[in-house]
Amino acid sequence: MTRGIKPPPDPILEALRLAATDERIAAEFLEARRWGDQPACPRCGAVAVYSMRSADGERNKDHRWRCRECKRMFTVRTGTVLEESRIPLRHWCHAFWRAVSSKKGVSALQISRECRISYKSALYLMHRIRAAVSDKPGEAAKLSGTVEMDATWVGGKPRYKGISKRGRGTKNAPVFGIVERGGELRLNAVERITSKTLKAAIAASGGVDPTTRLMSDEGTEFIGIGRALAGGHQTVKHKAKEYVRGEVHNNTIEGAFSILQRGVYGTFHSISRKHLPRYLAEFEFRYNTRKLSDSERVGIAIRKAQGKRLLYADQVAGR
Ligand SMILES: [Zn+2]
Repeated sequence: MTRGIKPPPDPILEALRLAATDERIAAEFLEARRWGDQPACPRCGAVAVYSMRSADGERNKDHRWRCRECKRMFTVRTGTVLEESRIPLRHWCHAFWRAVSSKKGVSALQISRECRISYKSALYLMHRIRAAVSDKPGEAAKLSGTVEMDATWVGGKPRYKGISKRGRGTKNAPVFGIVERGGELRLNAVERITSKTLKAAIAASGGVDPTTRLMSDEGTEFIGIGRALAGGHQTVKHKAKEYVRGEVHNNTIEGAFSILQRGVYGTFHSISRKHLPRYLAEFEFRYNTRKLSDSERVGIAIRKAQGKRLLYADQVAGR
């Protein structure tokens, strides 16, 4: 790409930005993402539905629909993470837009200022969006090929080269990372780094294929994991100041950790242990969709927000 020439604006992203300014546009934007051109009843699946309108033909203020089959009313919120709140849809659109289009993520404080909503509402919104983009159990695919594993500690002082990262202050929360070279990343908040907790985290985050070739540092907790893999286990000897030996390195996972750490220190001044898994899920989502366009990422995020239940549109498309 030539420097100085901006790429053309992404149409979906532009539509989302516009949706963040007006409640009716927001409702219609989310409806289009959810149903395409065939709205369906979220309760019984019927497509015999109509939008409720006032005498002058305007959409009803809550943008309600009614199902001719089960006679019940619904909105685009029904059956999604948006359902239990009264936060206007335009703020959801704004938060979705900011969450997917900013490289380092966006904090609840920023959303609260930008939407002029309470910090509490903004926090609620961001937690829901993080919940939306996190994978359901069984949703994440197995990693394979060459896989790097490493641990990092978030929430304390940055780590310095030469100082052991293990056994640092108890305020820091350990995060176990697994990345397939050229593929996806899995981040897991764990109680402590042991062979047992790591094995459990690997299983819980989709697992690794038995043919995998493992790269890690010389930590003893990786030995048993490596033995179970047919592709072999190579270690980088950090204690001997060795960081790369040909193909043997942990640069991919360390690169992901350094972006994570910058996000933690820059955008999110502190993340409580309680909220860490959701924050990691959001980071993981952004990392794993990094090769997609912003609009593809928005589409996936919004679909996932509803995907917490099977959608009619997805059912029809066989997704
Ligand atoms: Zn119905």
